[in-house]
Amino acid sequence: MSRLVMKFGGTSVADLDRIRSAAAHVKREVDAGHEVAVVVSAMAGKTNELVGWVRETSRLYDAREYDAVVGSGENVTAGLMALTLQEMGVPARSWQGWQVPVHTSSAHGAARIERIDTERLEAKFAEGMHAVIAGFQGISSEGRITTLGRGGSDTTAVAFAAALGAERCDIYTDVDGVYTTDPRITRKARKLGRISYEEMLELASLGAKVLQTRSVELAMRYKVRVQVRSSFGEEPGTLVCDEEEIVENRVVSGIAHTRDEAQITVAGVADRPGMAAALFGPLAASNINVDMIVQNVSAGGHTDMTFTVPHVDLARATDVLEKARSNGDVAFDALHVNEDVAKVSIVGIGMRSHAGVAHQMFQALAAENINIKAIATSEIKVSVLVDRKYLELAVQALHDAFGLEKAS
Ligand code: ADP
Ligand code: ASP
Ligand code: MG
Repeated sequence: MSRLVMKFGGTSVADLDRIRSAAAHVKREVDAGHEVAVVVSAMAGKTNELVGWVRETSRLYDAREYDAVVGSGENVTAGLMALTLQEMGVPARSWQGWQVPVHTSSAHGAARIERIDTERLEAKFAEGMHAVIAGFQGISSEGRITTLGRGGSDTTAVAFAAALGAERCDIYTDVDGVYTTDPRITRKARKLGRISYEEMLELASLGAKVLQTRSVELAMRYKVRVQVRSSFGEEPGTLVCDEEEIVENRVVSGIAHTRDEAQITVAGVADRPGMAAALFGPLAASNINVDMIVQNVSAGGHTDMTFTVPHVDLARATDVLEKARSNGDVAFDALHVNEDVAKVSIVGIGMRSHAGVAHQMFQALAAENINIKAIATSEIKVSVLVDRKYLELAVQALHDAFGLEKAS
């Protein structure tokens, strides 16, 4: 019997009616002869509410208790989904992460799945019982509840698809597939029939939150076929698959954006060997990811160094740099911070074999008078940092410039 993993995100289980609609999708697949592992998120808004409660209770909260609270939203939807399926005549049992168990690292709030023991689930499948799994959760080797980072139910779903040898992992969400860009930013966004693992990985890590980055990494590693589709209809969605399976061939496949970056300029750094290492060393030691880096050579043996960090790490980053300065590890005149920035990225495997893509991007932005504050590139992406107020305009201009509205 073939197996399917079906994951329902927060909006797809937002209330009892939505849970019934989601369960109807599950029943359809069960009736078609599949063994199904359903993975559910918490009801829309629930996780944010739980995070808010933790922060209100304790400013420097204990990460273990954060996970105990924040992971609980999924317990409710797992139980309700199992009950709803039972009411529809589908034998189903709910599983919290620790009951499976889903073994994870101890990095509370951002734990990684290390192993899933599937024996208990397998035994229940053998009895004709389908599984409803609370996404986002696991258990550490210390026996504490862990969570996988925001959006982590996608990762639960793909990890189960790999562990159970599922034929496909369907991610049901509030859009009917992966689009050329976030459809909330431009109505011209077009649904893609297929997208390669590599492109999806870049898009996700550059801000397209339709799939959690880690879930795409796992899908790529274990060759899990992932389909992103709508829980509000039955039409097929977007298949995330190997590059070889894709016929559509364009240079740029999609555009991602994020508002979650902040820019730091370190002014008046001595322009001599070792200064960059001295500056970025303490940030690395504090686990702060530096993304885009620009060095402006200035006169008088001094230079300005500009870079971006995730917005959540901004205060920590400036703290670390000020401390390094007061310890004498690094010398600079001043730190300037700009929080009103956004990163816009174009992604496409076609860039490997096409020259001039970055130039075309810069021209399109110049035509709209959008100033580029920093640039980062890799083999299949170009990212630019712009003032946040230009975010929508930049995405729209690039969408037009690379002809993404039209199917090729
Ligand atoms: P869920 O709660 O189902 O996990 P998410 O809110 O995490 O749903 O992800 C779905 C959202 O991702 C969509 O509503 C959409 O705004 C956003 N999104 C961002 N980029 C894209 C893209 N390229 N294609 C489709 N959706 C995208
Ligand atoms: N409920 C969790 C979150 O909001 C996990 C998920 O939805 O994927 O981040
Ligand atoms: Mg999500």
